[in-house]
Amino acid sequence: MRESCGVFGVYAPNEDVARLTFFALFALQHRGQESAGIATTDGKKLRVYAKMGLVSQVFSEDSLSQLTGDIAIGHNRYSTRGSSRINNVQPILVGKGSGTIAIAHNGNIINAEHLYRELYEQGYIFRTSSDTEVIANLILSSPEEDWVNKIRYAMHRLQGAYSLAIMTNHTLYGIRDPFGVRPLCLGAINGGYVVASESCALDHIGASFIREIEPGEIVAISENGIDSYPEESSRRALCIFEYIYFARPDSIINGRLLYPARQAMGAGLAEEYPVDADLVMGTPDSATAAGIGYSHRSKIPLGEGLLKNRYVGRTFIEPDQRIRDLGVKLKFNPLPQMLAGKRLVVVDDSIVRGTTTPQVVKVLRRAGTKEVHMRICAPPIRYPCFFGVDMATRQELIAAQKTVPEIRDFIGADSLGYLSIDGLIKAVALPKDIFCMACFTGDYPLPVQLEMDKLALETMPVGQREPFGTKQR
Ligand code: SF4
Repeated sequence: MRESCGVFGVYAPNEDVARLTFFALFALQHRGQESAGIATTDGKKLRVYAKMGLVSQVFSEDSLSQLTGDIAIGHNRYSTRGSSRINNVQPILVGKGSGTIAIAHNGNIINAEHLYRELYEQGYIFRTSSDTEVIANLILSSPEEDWVNKIRYAMHRLQGAYSLAIMTNHTLYGIRDPFGVRPLCLGAINGGYVVASESCALDHIGASFIREIEPGEIVAISENGIDSYPEESSRRALCIFEYIYFARPDSIINGRLLYPARQAMGAGLAEEYPVDADLVMGTPDSATAAGIGYSHRSKIPLGEGLLKNRYVGRTFIEPDQRIRDLGVKLKFNPLPQMLAGKRLVVVDDSIVRGTTTPQVVKVLRRAGTKEVHMRICAPPIRYPCFFGVDMATRQELIAAQKTVPEIRDFIGADSLGYLSIDGLIKAVALPKDIFCMACFTGDYPLPVQLEMDKLALETMPVGQREPFGTKQR
């Protein structure tokens, strides 16, 4: 499962805003590893530098030195294969002259196709196949006079998930969709302000956390200070996977540090699925905290059975077949001395298609593990995501096709236990009704015919440009 994207914005006349954005994107690298970009403005002109690659590969001292100004926004992108290309990198600049905006987006717009057709017929030109450009052109098409009302006009027409950093020549805007599907927080730095997907980005640049940007809220930051334009939302639907997997464990979302929340998921698994075993391990790194939680609650010793190559980034060099056949060994190397003859509990964050887990079990067994007991923090994923997470179609989701005992047999484990939805909510320790859990329950927060929309997109004639809404941002 892949995360969607990381966004960041800063208004700080006393700072090197491009450099701050670079380090914030560096901290948000886990949210997207395919491309990175920064846009800045000096009040007269918007500039952008964005390329394919990791943050550290994209920028140099030279490129940063050309990004001058008092305001900057930045973006890390993850995309599905088809849309991983240079003209879809973000931030993007849209508009003309003083009406130009720079935009960075985390999320997925479900009605992007419909809006695209409408805007195209009105004469709007599109350079990318991303729904981010649809958002930007929708804002520009608004009959309203000022930027806040233009943005609000667009928000009333957009359906889906969006956390946005938008910049004009004089103002930075942080915007969150009315459901609050993706996180976005506000911080302060040296007389200025920042917006970021996660609070860990604030820690890395020495900014202090102020608060979350509320679902439906527009925050405008300029020389006049900070203005908030809230709007009541009827339902909240923060993606529960931010707590399970996406966000960094040192981030705080809704006042809850993720690390102890993940430990509590492991503890919950130990309560719901106890087993006699010799050793507990969390799959590195995403389930490390949950493994610790399982160990503490079960009193079974914690150990490391798989080592992860922590320096592996996303690479554009495809492995040859021989290396591909090695499967997870590219990523994980077992420690036979720790595993031989042991009854092992393996805590992992989720099983989506069920392609990786059998390989992990195989690697552990080859290393001499006597029993493998899989414990999974996410309840069975039975429905696809329409809000920017590259998951799978319903047919590809293993829990949509098989029962839990069938999955246990398929992955080759001795036992398998998924944390219950109630156990997950107890671990997160926040009200159930603020979350989207549609991939477990099928209860999507949007009152639209999602399956029908998805079907319509999938049946578009081959050879047409990439349909919106099927790509991740
Ligand atoms: S469907 Fe699942 S992955 Fe998608 S936003 Fe909802 S909880 Fe997150």
